[in-house]
Amino acid sequence: MKAMVLEALCSLKENQMPLKLMELPVPVPGEKEILLKVSACGVCHTELDEIEGRTPPPRLPIVPGHQVVGRVEAVGSRVNAVKTGDRVGVAWIFSACGECKFCLAGNENLCPAFTATGRDANGGYAQYMTVAENFAYAIPDVFSDVQAAPLLCAGAIGYRSLRLTGLKDGQRLGLTGFGASAHLVLKMVRHCYPSSEIYVFARSAEERSFAIELGAVWAGDTAERAPHKLDSIIDTTPAWEPVVAALANLESGGRLVINAIRKEGDKRSLLDLDYPLHLWQEKELKSVANITRNDVKEFLELAAKMNLQPEVQVFALEQANKALIELKTGRIRGAKVLKMD
Ligand SMILES: [Zn+2]
Ligand SMILES: [Zn+2]
Repeated sequence: MKAMVLEALCSLKENQMPLKLMELPVPVPGEKEILLKVSACGVCHTELDEIEGRTPPPRLPIVPGHQVVGRVEAVGSRVNAVKTGDRVGVAWIFSACGECKFCLAGNENLCPAFTATGRDANGGYAQYMTVAENFAYAIPDVFSDVQAAPLLCAGAIGYRSLRLTGLKDGQRLGLTGFGASAHLVLKMVRHCYPSSEIYVFARSAEERSFAIELGAVWAGDTAERAPHKLDSIIDTTPAWEPVVAALANLESGGRLVINAIRKEGDKRSLLDLDYPLHLWQEKELKSVANITRNDVKEFLELAAKMNLQPEVQVFALEQANKALIELKTGRIRGAKVLKMD
Protein backbone atom coordinates (compact mmCIF):
# COMPACT_ATOMS: atom_id res chain seq x y z
CA MET A 1 0.00 0.00 0.00
CA LYS A 2 0.99 3.62 -0.45
CA ALA A 3 1.71 5.57 2.73
CA MET A 4 3.22 8.94 3.67
CA VAL A 5 5.76 8.04 6.34
CA LEU A 6 7.66 10.03 8.98
CA GLU A 7 11.16 8.54 9.28
CA ALA A 8 12.95 11.29 11.19
CA LEU A 9 11.91 14.34 13.21
CA CYS A 10 12.82 17.68 11.65
CA SER A 11 12.14 21.41 11.63
CA LEU A 12 9.60 22.32 8.95
CA LYS A 13 11.50 25.56 8.35
CA GLU A 14 14.47 23.52 7.17
CA ASN A 15 12.68 20.57 5.61
CA GLN A 16 9.55 21.13 3.56
CA MET A 17 9.24 17.40 2.76
CA PRO A 18 9.09 15.75 6.20
CA LEU A 19 7.05 12.75 4.99
CA LYS A 20 8.20 10.25 2.41
CA LEU A 21 5.92 8.38 0.01
CA MET A 22 6.60 4.67 0.61
CA GLU A 23 5.24 1.30 -0.34
CA LEU A 24 4.39 -0.66 2.85
CA PRO A 25 2.74 -4.06 3.38
CA VAL A 26 -1.02 -3.92 4.06
CA PRO A 27 -1.34 -4.38 7.86
CA VAL A 28 -2.99 -7.54 9.22
CA PRO A 29 -5.73 -6.97 11.84
CA GLY A 30 -5.35 -8.61 15.27
CA GLU A 31 -8.23 -10.72 16.57
CA LYS A 32 -10.18 -7.75 17.98
CA GLU A 33 -9.11 -5.38 15.21
CA ILE A 34 -10.50 -4.29 11.88
CA LEU A 35 -8.65 -3.49 8.66
CA LEU A 36 -9.81 -0.22 7.12
CA LYS A 37 -9.43 0.81 3.50
CA VAL A 38 -8.87 4.52 4.09
CA SER A 39 -10.76 6.94 1.88
CA ALA A 40 -10.02 10.25 3.64
CA CYS A 41 -7.79 11.53 6.42
CA GLY A 42 -7.85 15.01 7.92
CA VAL A 43 -4.65 17.01 8.44
CA CYS A 44 -4.25 18.29 12.00
CA HIS A 45 -1.91 20.80 13.63
CA THR A 46 -0.84 17.99 15.97
CA GLU A 47 0.98 16.38 13.02
CA LEU A 48 3.27 19.45 13.04
CA ASP A 49 3.93 18.86 16.76
CA GLU A 50 4.79 15.23 16.05
CA ILE A 51 7.09 15.99 13.11
CA GLU A 52 8.91 18.82 14.92
CA GLY A 53 9.28 16.78 18.11
CA ARG A 54 7.02 18.64 20.53
CA THR A 55 4.99 15.44 20.99
CA PRO A 56 7.30 12.96 19.28
CA PRO A 57 6.23 9.47 18.22
CA PRO A 58 7.87 6.95 20.61
CA ARG A 59 9.17 4.97 17.64
CA LEU A 60 9.90 5.73 14.00
CA PRO A 61 9.02 5.27 11.23
CA ILE A 62 5.34 6.08 11.76
CA VAL A 63 2.37 6.80 9.52
CA PRO A 64 0.66 9.94 10.91
CA GLY A 65 -3.02 10.88 10.69
CA HIS A 66 -5.83 10.64 13.24
CA GLN A 67 -8.99 11.81 11.47
CA VAL A 68 -9.57 8.73 9.38
CA VAL A 69 -12.62 7.63 7.40
CA GLY A 70 -12.73 4.33 5.54
CA ARG A 71 -14.52 1.11 4.86
CA VAL A 72 -13.96 -2.14 6.70
CA GLU A 73 -12.07 -4.50 4.44
CA ALA A 74 -11.46 -7.37 6.89
CA VAL A 75 -12.14 -8.18 10.56
CA GLY A 76 -10.27 -10.20 13.19
CA SER A 77 -11.67 -13.49 14.53
CA ARG A 78 -13.09 -11.92 17.74
CA VAL A 79 -14.69 -8.83 16.20
CA ASN A 80 -18.43 -8.69 16.98
CA ALA A 81 -20.13 -5.44 16.12
CA VAL A 82 -18.35 -4.23 12.99
CA LYS A 83 -18.82 -5.92 9.60
CA THR A 84 -16.92 -5.91 6.33
CA GLY A 85 -18.15 -3.00 4.20
CA ASP A 86 -19.16 -0.76 7.17
CA ARG A 87 -18.08 2.86 6.92
CA VAL A 88 -16.27 3.90 10.09
CA GLY A 89 -14.04 6.65 11.45
CA VAL A 90 -10.99 6.62 13.73
CA ALA A 91 -10.03 9.52 16.00
CA TRP A 92 -7.00 10.55 18.10
CA ILE A 93 -7.79 8.00 20.83
CA PHE A 94 -6.30 4.71 19.60
CA SER A 95 -6.47 2.92 22.97
CA ALA A 96 -6.75 3.42 26.74
CA CYS A 97 -6.30 0.84 29.51
CA GLY A 98 -9.95 0.69 30.63
CA GLU A 99 -8.90 -0.11 34.21
CA CYS A 100 -7.27 2.95 35.78
CA LYS A 101 -9.14 5.52 37.92
CA PHE A 102 -9.39 7.89 34.97
CA CYS A 103 -10.80 5.28 32.59
CA LEU A 104 -13.25 4.05 35.23
CA ALA A 105 -14.49 7.60 35.84
CA GLY A 106 -15.12 8.20 32.12
CA ASN A 107 -11.95 10.25 31.67
CA GLU A 108 -10.09 7.85 29.39
CA ASN A 109 -8.53 10.92 27.73
CA LEU A 110 -6.39 11.27 30.89
CA CYS A 111 -5.39 7.56 31.05
CA PRO A 112 -1.62 7.24 31.70
CA ALA A 113 -1.58 4.43 29.12
CA PHE A 114 -3.44 6.54 26.50
CA THR A 115 -2.15 5.88 22.98
CA ALA A 116 -2.77 8.14 20.02
CA THR A 117 -3.56 7.25 16.42
CA GLY A 118 -0.82 8.32 14.03
CA ARG A 119 1.70 8.96 16.83
CA ASP A 120 1.84 5.78 18.96
CA ALA A 121 0.33 3.57 16.23
CA ASN A 122 0.19 3.91 12.45
CA GLY A 123 -2.60 6.23 11.30
CA GLY A 124 -4.49 7.28 8.21
CA TYR A 125 -1.93 8.89 5.87
CA ALA A 126 -2.07 5.57 4.00
CA GLN A 127 -4.33 3.38 1.93
CA TYR A 128 -5.00 0.98 4.84
CA MET A 129 -4.82 0.95 8.64
CA THR A 130 -5.87 -1.30 11.52
CA VAL A 131 -7.63 -0.34 14.76
CA ALA A 132 -9.51 -2.12 17.58
CA GLU A 133 -13.20 -2.41 16.67
CA ASN A 134 -14.30 -0.58 19.83
CA PHE A 135 -12.16 2.44 18.89
CA ALA A 136 -13.98 2.95 15.56
CA TYR A 137 -17.20 4.93 15.07
CA ALA A 138 -20.07 4.60 12.60
CA ILE A 139 -20.17 7.69 10.39
CA PRO A 140 -23.64 9.26 9.96
CA ASP A 141 -24.93 9.05 6.38
CA VAL A 142 -25.31 12.82 5.97
CA PHE A 143 -21.53 13.25 5.65
CA SER A 144 -19.33 12.44 2.69
CA ASP A 145 -16.03 10.72 3.54
CA VAL A 146 -14.08 13.95 3.02
CA GLN A 147 -16.43 16.03 5.17
CA ALA A 148 -16.57 13.45 7.94
CA ALA A 149 -12.77 13.37 8.34
CA PRO A 150 -12.22 16.75 10.06
CA LEU A 151 -15.15 16.06 12.37
CA LEU A 152 -13.11 13.30 14.02
CA CYS A 153 -10.53 15.64 15.60
CA ALA A 154 -11.12 19.29 14.74
CA GLY A 155 -14.84 18.85 15.37
CA ALA A 156 -14.78 16.42 18.28
CA ILE A 157 -12.05 18.23 20.21
CA GLY A 158 -13.81 21.50 19.45
CA TYR A 159 -16.90 19.96 21.02
CA ARG A 160 -14.94 18.94 24.12
CA SER A 161 -13.39 22.43 24.40
CA LEU A 162 -16.77 24.08 24.09
CA ARG A 163 -18.18 21.80 26.79
CA LEU A 164 -15.23 22.67 29.07
CA THR A 165 -15.96 26.40 28.75
CA GLY A 166 -19.30 25.88 30.53
CA LEU A 167 -20.85 28.45 28.14
CA LYS A 168 -24.54 29.24 28.65
CA ASP A 169 -26.83 30.59 25.95
CA GLY A 170 -26.55 34.37 25.80
CA GLN A 171 -23.00 34.51 27.15
CA ARG A 172 -20.24 35.92 24.95
CA LEU A 173 -17.66 33.50 23.57
CA GLY A 174 -14.24 34.36 22.17
CA LEU A 175 -12.22 32.18 19.79
CA THR A 176 -8.54 32.97 19.46
CA GLY A 177 -7.09 31.24 16.42
CA PHE A 178 -9.46 30.39 13.59
CA GLY A 179 -8.45 27.11 11.96
CA ALA A 180 -10.24 23.83 11.40
CA SER A 181 -11.44 23.37 14.97
CA ALA A 182 -12.52 26.96 15.69
CA HIS A 183 -14.60 27.26 12.52
CA LEU A 184 -16.56 24.15 13.55
CA VAL A 185 -16.98 25.49 17.11
CA LEU A 186 -18.41 28.70 15.64
CA LYS A 187 -21.01 26.71 13.68
CA MET A 188 -21.82 24.60 16.76
CA VAL A 189 -22.28 27.65 18.99
CA ARG A 190 -24.60 29.31 16.50
CA HIS A 191 -26.75 26.16 16.58
CA CYS A 192 -26.61 25.27 20.29
CA TYR A 193 -26.38 28.78 21.82
CA PRO A 194 -28.23 31.01 19.34
CA SER A 195 -28.23 34.05 21.66
CA SER A 196 -24.48 33.95 22.28
CA GLU A 197 -22.26 36.39 20.39
CA ILE A 198 -18.96 35.10 19.01
CA TYR A 199 -15.79 37.21 18.90
CA VAL A 200 -12.87 35.93 16.82
CA PHE A 201 -9.17 36.79 17.15
CA ALA A 202 -7.01 35.72 14.20
CA ARG A 203 -3.68 36.76 12.77
CA SER A 204 -4.67 36.83 9.10
CA ALA A 205 -7.23 39.08 7.42
CA GLU A 206 -8.56 36.09 5.44
CA GLU A 207 -9.31 34.17 8.62
CA ARG A 208 -11.02 37.23 10.11
CA SER A 209 -13.28 37.78 7.10
CA PHE A 210 -14.02 34.02 7.00
CA ALA A 211 -15.13 34.26 10.65
CA ILE A 212 -17.47 37.17 9.89
CA GLU A 213 -18.85 35.25 6.88
CA LEU A 214 -19.70 32.38 9.22
CA GLY A 215 -21.48 34.64 11.70
CA ALA A 216 -18.97 36.08 14.20
CA VAL A 217 -20.15 39.51 15.40
CA TRP A 218 -16.60 40.87 15.59
CA ALA A 219 -13.16 39.80 14.38
CA GLY A 220 -9.85 41.38 15.28
CA ASP A 221 -6.14 40.67 15.42
CA THR A 222 -4.85 38.28 18.08
CA ALA A 223 -3.62 41.02 20.40
CA GLU A 224 -6.64 43.34 20.07
CA ARG A 225 -9.16 44.18 22.78
CA ALA A 226 -12.71 43.10 21.97
CA PRO A 227 -15.48 45.72 22.42
CA HIS A 228 -16.90 43.63 25.31
CA LYS A 229 -15.44 41.40 28.00
CA LEU A 230 -16.00 37.72 27.10
CA ASP A 231 -17.46 35.08 29.41
CA SER A 232 -15.26 32.36 27.98
CA ILE A 233 -12.59 32.04 25.34
CA ILE A 234 -11.19 29.02 23.51
CA ASP A 235 -7.55 29.28 22.41
CA THR A 236 -6.50 27.07 19.49
CA THR A 237 -3.23 28.85 18.68
CA PRO A 238 0.21 27.27 19.03
CA ALA A 239 1.60 30.34 20.84
CA TRP A 240 1.62 32.10 24.25
CA GLU A 241 0.98 35.69 23.19
CA PRO A 242 -2.69 34.95 22.32
CA VAL A 243 -3.14 33.34 25.76
CA VAL A 244 -2.02 36.50 27.54
CA ALA A 245 -4.15 38.66 25.23
CA ALA A 246 -7.17 36.40 25.79
CA LEU A 247 -6.85 36.67 29.58
CA ALA A 248 -7.10 40.47 29.22
CA ASN A 249 -10.32 40.03 27.20
CA LEU A 250 -11.86 37.69 29.76
CA GLU A 251 -14.81 38.79 31.92
CA SER A 252 -14.51 38.51 35.74
CA GLY A 253 -15.09 34.87 36.70
CA GLY A 254 -14.56 33.87 33.06
CA ARG A 255 -12.71 30.82 31.81
CA LEU A 256 -10.03 30.43 29.16
CA VAL A 257 -9.82 26.95 27.65
CA ILE A 258 -6.56 26.10 25.89
CA ASN A 259 -7.18 23.58 23.13
CA ALA A 260 -3.59 22.78 22.17
CA ILE A 261 -1.49 19.69 22.77
CA ARG A 262 1.73 21.73 22.88
CA LYS A 263 2.75 25.38 22.72
CA GLU A 264 5.67 26.63 20.65
CA GLY A 265 8.47 29.06 21.42
CA ASP A 266 7.34 32.52 22.55
CA LYS A 267 7.49 31.87 26.33
CA ARG A 268 8.75 35.42 26.89
CA SER A 269 5.20 36.64 26.20
CA LEU A 270 4.33 35.19 29.59
CA LEU A 271 6.46 37.90 31.21
CA ASP A 272 3.72 40.33 30.10
CA LEU A 273 1.32 38.65 32.53
CA ASP A 274 -0.03 41.30 34.86
CA TYR A 275 -1.85 39.74 37.79
CA PRO A 276 -4.65 42.35 38.19
CA LEU A 277 -5.25 42.67 34.44
CA HIS A 278 -4.95 39.03 33.37
CA LEU A 279 -5.66 36.73 36.31
CA TRP A 280 -7.32 38.42 39.26
CA GLN A 281 -11.15 38.50 39.49
CA GLU A 282 -11.33 34.71 39.66
CA LYS A 283 -10.39 34.08 36.06
CA GLU A 284 -9.85 30.41 35.28
CA LEU A 285 -7.56 28.63 32.89
CA LYS A 286 -8.13 25.04 31.75
CA SER A 287 -6.39 22.93 29.13
CA VAL A 288 -7.96 20.27 26.92
CA ALA A 289 -6.19 16.92 26.77
CA ASN A 290 -6.97 14.30 24.15
CA ILE A 291 -10.46 13.02 23.66
CA THR A 292 -12.76 10.24 24.87
CA ARG A 293 -14.80 7.89 22.72
CA ASN A 294 -17.93 9.42 24.21
CA ASP A 295 -16.87 12.87 23.02
CA VAL A 296 -16.55 11.52 19.47
CA LYS A 297 -19.88 9.66 19.58
CA GLU A 298 -21.84 12.53 21.14
CA PHE A 299 -20.31 15.01 18.76
CA LEU A 300 -21.00 12.93 15.61
CA GLU A 301 -24.63 12.66 16.72
CA LEU A 302 -24.88 16.43 17.23
CA ALA A 303 -23.07 17.14 13.96
CA ALA A 304 -25.50 14.91 12.02
CA LYS A 305 -28.52 16.50 13.73
CA MET A 306 -27.39 20.02 12.87
CA ASN A 307 -25.95 18.98 9.49
CA LEU A 308 -22.58 20.50 10.43
CA GLN A 309 -20.67 20.52 7.17
CA PRO A 310 -17.03 21.55 7.56
CA GLU A 311 -15.37 23.72 4.92
CA VAL A 312 -12.68 21.51 3.44
CA GLN A 313 -9.68 21.81 1.15
CA VAL A 314 -8.86 18.48 -0.49
CA PHE A 315 -5.34 17.18 -1.22
CA ALA A 316 -4.14 13.88 -2.69
CA LEU A 317 -2.28 11.53 -0.31
CA GLU A 318 0.97 12.36 -2.13
CA GLN A 319 0.38 16.08 -1.38
CA ALA A 320 0.47 15.58 2.40
CA ASN A 321 3.69 17.62 2.73
CA LYS A 322 2.11 20.54 0.87
CA ALA A 323 -0.93 20.45 3.16
CA LEU A 324 1.30 20.39 6.26
CA ILE A 325 3.43 23.31 5.09
CA GLU A 326 0.32 25.37 4.31
CA LEU A 327 -0.94 24.61 7.81
CA LYS A 328 2.41 25.63 9.30
CA THR A 329 2.52 28.92 7.38
CA GLY A 330 -1.03 29.83 8.28
CA ARG A 331 -2.73 29.41 4.91
CA ILE A 332 -5.93 28.15 6.45
CA ARG A 333 -9.53 28.20 5.38
CA GLY A 334 -11.48 25.49 7.17
CA ALA A 335 -9.95 22.02 7.28
CA LYS A 336 -7.43 20.24 5.08
CA VAL A 337 -8.18 16.65 4.11
CA LEU A 338 -6.22 14.00 2.21
CA LYS A 339 -8.38 11.99 -0.20
CA MET A 340 -7.15 8.53 -1.21
CA ASP A 341 -7.91 7.35 -4.73
ZN1 LIG B 1 -6.01 16.43 15.74
ZN1 LIG C 1 -6.73 4.00 31.84
